[in-house]
Order: sequence, then C-alpha cells, then structure tokens
Amino acid sequence: MEYFYTPPRLVTASSLVIEGDEFAHLTHVMRKGMHDVIRVVDGAGNMYDVVITQLAARSVTCTINAHYIRAHEADRTVVLGAAILKHGASFDFLVEKATEIGVSEVVPLLTERTIPRHAKNDRWQKLALAAMKQSQRCFLPPVRPLTTLHEFLRTADNSSLKFIPHEKVTEPLFRDVVPTEVRKAIIVIGPEGGFTDEEIAAAGSAGFLSVSLGPRRLRAETAAVVAAAQILL
Ligand code: SAH
Repeated sequence: MEYFYTPPRLVTASSLVIEGDEFAHLTHVMRKGMHDVIRVVDGAGNMYDVVITQLAARSVTCTINAHYIRAHEADRTVVLGAAILKHGASFDFLVEKATEIGVSEVVPLLTERTIPRHAKNDRWQKLALAAMKQSQRCFLPPVRPLTTLHEFLRTADNSSLKFIPHEKVTEPLFRDVVPTEVRKAIIVIGPEGGFTDEEIAAAGSAGFLSVSLGPRRLRAETAAVVAAAQILL
C-alpha cells in the first residue's frame, strides 16, 4: 500500500488535509480521488487510515477512520553521525537506507579527512521523507545541519550507548558488544579516508567504544547501513 505524508499541523482529531507536493502526487500521479481509502503518516509517529471526502483545486480533505501510534517503529533509537562523502550519490544512499532501516536521526559530519563539499540538507531531507513512506515508517528522521565531529562528540547524549566503527581495530566485533536490551545508541561513521588516530582518541574520551565491523574494509555508506542494522533489525 502506498503511503502519503502530511505534517502534524494539517491534522485534527477527525480529519486531515493533504496539500503541496503530496497533493500533486496523490491526485495526479497516483490518481486518487473522492472516497478512495489511503494511508497517511505525519512524520511525528502517527499513522492514519483515511478516506478522501473533499477534493479542492490544491488540497484534499480526508476523514480519519483509524489512528495508529508509532506503527512499524523500532523500540530503540539510533542516532547516526556520518561524515559527508566525496560522491553525492554515496551520502544519498546512506540517508535513504538508514531511514529504511529505522534510524531516528542523521547528523552529517565534518571530520579531518572529509573532502569539503556543499551539504545538501534539503535534498537529504526529501530523500528521508520518500524513504520513510517507502518503508512504511511514521517517523521522519531529521537530517541535522552539517556539524563538526568535535561538536558531535561534545554534545552526544550521555544516556545512549556510543560506538565508533573503525577499520583499524580487530576487536571487539560490534555485534558482540551490542546488548540485546539496548534502548538508545549513537553510531559515528568516518569518511572515505577513515578517522585519524586523534579523532579515535577524542571519541574514546567522549565515551565512544571503537568497534570492528569485521575483517573486510567496507565503504563508509555500507558501514553505516551495516552498523545501524546491527541494532535495529
Ligand atoms: N581509512 C580506510 C577506509 C575507511 S572506510 C582506508 O582508506 O583504508 C570509512 C568508514 O567506514 C570508517 O571510518 C569506519 O567508520 C567504517 N568502516 C569501514 N570498514 C570497517 C570495518 N571493517 N570495521 C569498522 N568500521 C569500518
């Protein structure tokens, strides 16, 4: 079933409105109209089964038949800090797959070996929105503004378990140190050139455990997906 999105401000207890790009997609691409039953998510943890009851030039109004809270969402949260990557397509992939797997937040990072490039937050947030609907999630992971690694380490939530996958360590294996009852975790992934020794030391001081994702060197976007999946799937 196709999922549609509308923000919380367009939802009341009994009805909701869909406008803008989603309206165009709903009516022109998906050809939905009066009396059609559709599923709508608000990106804030709510999912609705609705029926289209009013069709206007630029919006539809729907009557809510059922409301589900946090449907298909994990019972744990993973914040993913990831160095932005040289090829735009790689970070696009990272944002899209991380969203499908269920991460709750993506923080694009600047690290010592990051090749400076323009952060494309609007594009990444749109990709996350599409991936949320595709994967039937009802929570839209925010893609935060570009942040330095040091700032990310400094402000990391202390009630979370913190991990920094690093290809230069052989143990522990990440999967061996993730407790089954973990509730909140933070994962930080380096750029193509990896982390410097200083960065690994700084992360260690900030409470991040260096872990291995196995003996094969993964591309950064693969490492991000594999690490997130370790906790969320
Ligand atoms: N510096 C390396 C490659 C870095 S891979 C080199 O050029 O040889 C990019 C990021 O993916 C790393 O910073 C790390 O966070 C993660 N990564 C890749 N393979 C990994 C592995 N086998 N174990 C742990 N982390 C890995």
